[in-house]
Amino acid sequence: MNNIHMQFIIALLLGIKRNGHIFLGLIFGIITGFFLQNTSSVAYKILDFIGQGFINLIQMVVLPLVVSAIIIGISNIGDSKQLTKFGSKMLIYYGIITVSAVTIASIIALIIQPGLSANGLVRPEIAESIQQYVRDAIVYQRENMSQIFLDLIPRNPFMALSEGKMIPVIIFVSIFAIALTRAGEISRPLVSLFESVFAATMKVTDWIMYLAALGVFALTATSVANFGTDVFEDITKYIIAVCLALAIQFFIVYPVMLKLFSKVSPLKLYGAISEALMVAFGTASSSATLPLTITCCEKRGISNRVCSFVLPLGATLNMDGTAIIQVIAVIFLIQMYGVSLSPVLIIEIAFLAIVASSTCAGIPGAGLITIALILNGIGLTPEQLVLGFSLLFTFERIMDMLRTVCNVTSDAVVASIIADNENELNYELLNGTVPEERV
Ligand code: ASP
Repeated sequence: MNNIHMQFIIALLLGIKRNGHIFLGLIFGIITGFFLQNTSSVAYKILDFIGQGFINLIQMVVLPLVVSAIIIGISNIGDSKQLTKFGSKMLIYYGIITVSAVTIASIIALIIQPGLSANGLVRPEIAESIQQYVRDAIVYQRENMSQIFLDLIPRNPFMALSEGKMIPVIIFVSIFAIALTRAGEISRPLVSLFESVFAATMKVTDWIMYLAALGVFALTATSVANFGTDVFEDITKYIIAVCLALAIQFFIVYPVMLKLFSKVSPLKLYGAISEALMVAFGTASSSATLPLTITCCEKRGISNRVCSFVLPLGATLNMDGTAIIQVIAVIFLIQMYGVSLSPVLIIEIAFLAIVASSTCAGIPGAGLITIALILNGIGLTPEQLVLGFSLLFTFERIMDMLRTVCNVTSDAVVASIIADNENELNYELLNGTVPEERV
């Protein structure tokens, strides 16, 4: 093991030390999950209840947080020149990081050939329900392609808010926030109101985090209990390919990005956000983790100006872990059905994965479902794929937990690079030479 890997492990261990209770929850969750496998016992039901309760609690703060954070973020940035600069930097960095994700995923899938070893082992009832699900999604997308884009513009922003549709909400709130900054002094009271909403939401997040260890324990235990160990052999290569691609992204691409574009030490950043990463793993939701991602980044010196602009947008639009799994899953599926992989087809899959992952919500399971968009793009039908989908779904939850960790890390990496570039990063806080800030 070389030095840099050793340093990463030390950083993660330091993070774990600071958040030892959550880490213990995770470990005990894994152990308990193994004992609960293949049961529908009372213990499982109680843990499921606790886990869902924890996710609901953190999701409760997401909407007020996203709305207030974007409004403060945009109005803090102020003039339109600065906003264009911040916005274009954000898109460029998110773009680079996602393109490397799909490139790595394609290369690894081509080397490992995940679909070749897969052959059928599907329970018919699962197959049927998934078949219906995928068929509906593809039919909807095919018939409503232009409608899908039109739906991103909310005719009624309040309805979009109440339905928790993140992209329409972000579009509306961003336009509204730009208008507020243009309106000048008169908009100050409203911006102050959103500053109060943001502060209160962060306080609620603090309280919810007292339950983090219990929540992560319950969520991990129920996920492990649901492992489909019977099909392990058929999708071993798929699991290896996904884990390898996610590990390369996490241990090589992000640190290289940080080194190339900033002075941020990957070590310090990973230590700073370790609490958010554990919650991302437990909840498999980058939206639900968002309040904590913001808290961790702000406490460790990334300015509120950057966090409140870059992180909420990233939690919805920037999903490289998801893009990775989508590329590998689609290659797994088409290899399993004997479709030959031409370079053009691979590029098409990679491109569609970028689109599909950015329109995918930051909630559990969304990534595998939005694969329908990629499949539709390459003209496949659900009837051909039902067997493969059933295999993928058996290990879906644990894959989701892993890719969500990447999704959240990637947002923090881009936020810290932009903060570095714009002199919005307090290095003393990040490097731990002065105590953490209270947010
Ligand atoms: N669970 C992922 C996230 O929240 C999205 C996905 O399903 O890929 O980031």
